[in-house]
Formats: sequence, structure tokens, C-alpha cells
Amino acid sequence: MGTRVRAGSLIAALAILVGSAFVPTAMNSPARAEASVSAPATTAAPAAVPTLETTPSTDPTPTPSVDATVTLIAVGDLMCHSQQFRAAHYGSIYDFYPAFRPVAARITAADIAAGNLETTLRAYGPYSGYPAFRTPRSYADGLKKAGFDVLTTANNHALDGGATGVRATAAYLDKLGIAHTGTDNDGPAIVEHDGVKIAFLAYTYATNGIHSPFPGAVNRISLARMKTNIASARKRADLVIVVPHWGSEYRATPEAATRTLARALIDAGADLVLGSHPHVVRPVESYHGRFIVYSMGNFISGMSDTYTDLGIMIEATIVRRETGTKVASLKVVPVFRDRTYGAGRSTYRVVDIGRMLTAPDSHTSSYDRTRMRGYLSYCRRMFGKLLSL
Ligand SMILES: [Zn+2]
Repeated sequence: MGTRVRAGSLIAALAILVGSAFVPTAMNSPARAEASVSAPATTAAPAAVPTLETTPSTDPTPTPSVDATVTLIAVGDLMCHSQQFRAAHYGSIYDFYPAFRPVAARITAADIAAGNLETTLRAYGPYSGYPAFRTPRSYADGLKKAGFDVLTTANNHALDGGATGVRATAAYLDKLGIAHTGTDNDGPAIVEHDGVKIAFLAYTYATNGIHSPFPGAVNRISLARMKTNIASARKRADLVIVVPHWGSEYRATPEAATRTLARALIDAGADLVLGSHPHVVRPVESYHGRFIVYSMGNFISGMSDTYTDLGIMIEATIVRRETGTKVASLKVVPVFRDRTYGAGRSTYRVVDIGRMLTAPDSHTSSYDRTRMRGYLSYCRRMFGKLLSL
């Protein structure tokens, strides 16, 4: 995350965005929020939610027999605010896995799982949250245990730990066997499953004004460079996924420039675009038979503003045929960053909204269920038939 917006303007913007059916809650105050939230109506005007038209595929190719299928899960921003690492602190260790446990089975079940690591890792304290994220490196142990195989690191917080942070983060991910791309002069992360090679490329719009400590410390968005990298990756992999960190924070509608860039990436040969950074989810577009996910929102964070605790997991099925490899189908799974208080500490966890509403557990308050129902309604309107529960 980067520059914060004022709470008042955010509430106003979001109220306009979703209409009156889902009243944004008070910020950072669960008690006040519970009192002010109103039950969302499922009949809210669909026009209030940003959606995108699609352009039909121009590829008339008949489909010969499948010779390999790979399932992919991708999630949005993996943040670590100070309240999160305080919540993960047990004696002399930090254990972040409990935050991911409720969705770990689903992530592990995918052949390949990817996310955007929006912090820097270090072996020793002091650790810090916003605005300069320096996180206990055991955060990555939690991600590994939850099933993540590849992490993108090109984002506006990539340089928060300086040169040391960039290198320590890359080195620790290497040690854990997690593929990564976006910083430290690395090339594409190429992950292989059943002989299908999938390349990930990651780029960021900026680094919060922090100058690059060495050439190639982080990949910056540049269409010319991205085109070159996509062409190069295509020679080494069956499928190319581009992960741009872009757009205005807290804005659910993609900017014209973002849409132009996204389509240019597809035109340049990208098979799938997975956007991150706005801290809220954005629509999915089908462009010439390929998907553009404009923002997957936060997967986990310490943020509490309405919509910043909603994220989506993308579940894609990648199929290799004689004629080539492509994303054959894509589904959107909404997730909620649940925070509860008890025993002198907060507990953070990511839960699958559909499953949690069907079978709520003892940690789920009526306030959280109301919030999740509102988000589910919002996602139905935004993602339509792509939604998977
Ligand atoms: Zn960001």
C-alpha cells in the first residue's frame, strides 16, 4: 500500500461506488462499524458496481485433444502491517501460518499457487509495518506451508528494506524453494507442472519515491520492456502471465490508461494479466479470448476500510493442446480477511466467503457474516458468472 486517502473521502467514494445498499462502516472501529452497518440488499442496482464489457475471442481454432491440464490459484496483495506481526508473535517466534490455514487446503490443491508479496523480509528485527514494510522472514514460511509456489515482488514496497531487503527477500525465497520474480535482477519465474511451463513476469508502477539502490533492484512498468520480456518468456515457456502492480488505490474502476496497458500486454503475447495494488477488487475482462484481472485486492493485510478486507482468489485451468497452451477457464473465489479479538491479541485469518457463510464457525461474528454477505452480493454483481462459491 502507499499513500493513504482520508477516511471521509474514501467513504464518500465507496458510497458512490456501491450505492446505498451496502453502507461503508466506520474505519478501524469494529464496535462503531457493527452499529452502523446495514444489511446489504441483493437487489441493489447492478449499474452501481463497475463491470467491464468483453470482446469476443477471434480465435476460431477447433479444440483437439487435451494433453495436459494445470490448475492455478492466484491471490492479491500479501501485506504485513505491524498489527499482523504482533498478532503472529509467540514468545521468541513469529508464526504466520494460522492466518492462511482456513484456505490452505484450497491453495495446496492447486498445481501452482501464486501471490504478490508486498513487503520485504529480514532475519532479525526491528520489524516495521506501514510505511516501510520490514517483515519477519517466517512470513514466507507461512506462505510456503499454505502452498504458495511462486511470489511476485515488484511492487511499491519492494525497496522498503533497501538493497539489503531486496537481496535478503530473494535469498530467503530461494532457500524455501519459492519461485519469485520482480526484483533483484531476476528473470521470469518459470514454474513447471506436468511438463507445462508457465512464466510469470512482474512490474510495478513506482516505489514510493525510494530510489533504486542498484540497477535492476525492481522491475518498473515500461511497455517496451514488457513486450521484450514477454517475447523472450514465450520462447522458454508454454504460457506467459504478467503481474502488473498498478492503478489508483481504493478505486474499483480501472483507469483508461490501465485498460490500455492491459490490452497492450495481451496484444504483445501475454496469456493472462493478474493485476494488484489498488487494495480493492476490480472487474475481470475477457479480451480477445484472454483474461485481464484488474485487481485481486488484498489477500491479507491489517487494513480495515470497507472493501480492503475483501479479496479474490483466481482459480484458472490451463490446458495444453497440440495447438498451444491457454487459460481454458477462470473462476473468481471471494475471500474475507477476518480479524477477531481475544486473549489479549488480535487474530488474523483469510476465509473463503462462500464456505464460511454456508458453514460459519465459532469465530465468525454476526457482524462478520453481515459484512461477508454484503461482499458476496457485491462480487456477484461485479463478476457475474465467473463467481465460484
Ligand atoms: Zn501496492
